[in-house]
Amino acid sequence: MQFEFATATRIVFGEGSFKRIGGLTSEMGSRAFVACGLDRQRGEAIREALFSVKLESILFSVQGEPSIDLVYQGTAMAREAGCDVVIGFGGGSALDCGKAIAALLTNPGDLLDYLEVIGRGKPLTEWSAPFIAIPTTAGTGTEVTRNAVLGASEHRIKVSLRSPRMLPRLALVDPELTYSLPPGITASTGLDALTQLIEPFVCIQPNPITDAVCREGMRHAARSLRRAYDQGDNPSARQGMSLASLMGGLALANAKLGAVHGFASPMGGMFPAPHGAVCARLLPFVMEANLMALRKRLPDSEALSRYDEAARILTNRVDATAEDGVAWVRDVCQHFTIPPLSAYGLAQSDLKVLVEKAAQASSMQGNPIKLTADEMEEILARAL
Ligand SMILES: [Zn+2]
Repeated sequence: MQFEFATATRIVFGEGSFKRIGGLTSEMGSRAFVACGLDRQRGEAIREALFSVKLESILFSVQGEPSIDLVYQGTAMAREAGCDVVIGFGGGSALDCGKAIAALLTNPGDLLDYLEVIGRGKPLTEWSAPFIAIPTTAGTGTEVTRNAVLGASEHRIKVSLRSPRMLPRLALVDPELTYSLPPGITASTGLDALTQLIEPFVCIQPNPITDAVCREGMRHAARSLRRAYDQGDNPSARQGMSLASLMGGLALANAKLGAVHGFASPMGGMFPAPHGAVCARLLPFVMEANLMALRKRLPDSEALSRYDEAARILTNRVDATAEDGVAWVRDVCQHFTIPPLSAYGLAQSDLKVLVEKAAQASSMQGNPIKLTADEMEEILARAL
């Protein structure tokens, strides 16, 4: 057995931990560049917290998933202002934008030198500038991953800037920051977190540490997902989802993903569809298709017993089978009224192209069984 496990240098978790941001940042630099989601009030709150420990800061607003241009802009601004520490504060978009800017601040040359697929895919040679990730949603887990997802709109795809040198210096996870998330975002991001716990657990290359993390993370998600949606201000539900999200990030960064993410990546490039919403819709259909394909072509696969185990954790029933797990996920999706993929513009006529692109996606290579083009199209048709 051989594996690696790498994560953020430091993880600080807990209700109210955001208040420590001043002291924690001053250990890493003297001038902070803050890539911040839309909430202006929050932007001001972090500026004040930094100012109280005599740190200067620059606020940079990130709307929607970050484009390559936005990263260029942010990097130029951070350089000009002499920033030596970067903070990403918001949902996955703000965090990924900050993470990419921190990487470009220290690495010479152009972003395209380092991008996969549309760029030259060279490895980063320098460690990123110190990067602090403060999530305000509970889903992406990007606070502990080594990649940043960026939109290349002219190519209609999303690409990753990826390197172990991009792992955040600090993940500051304060569940209180998620109390005000509206139910719709709680639902889609929460199901993304669940997907990021199930896919690494059944993938072709799990390891004993990600297994332990996935089991515990699924337990938290099972207990907290519905409650966080029904009662947004329930502290224990929000805490459970922040933990599930964090653990999903730990797992996906150190094992593999699967078909849900294999579809979500090209789909997100082709249509303006939020990542979490796409994953949420696809999850039960992919689970079902994987089970059928495994039983037909790989009946001895360990993934089958792993699906059974996941079902026991999710349903909290010792006699649950893999199918009960699918039913549990389907019930949750129904309760959350997750929209079909057609809501984002996907049509029957797009399915073949999407299947072709998904087959190439790196996440698809982690799926417990190689799905045929027909099986993949069937999944999309059902999720349409
Ligand atoms: Zn995801």
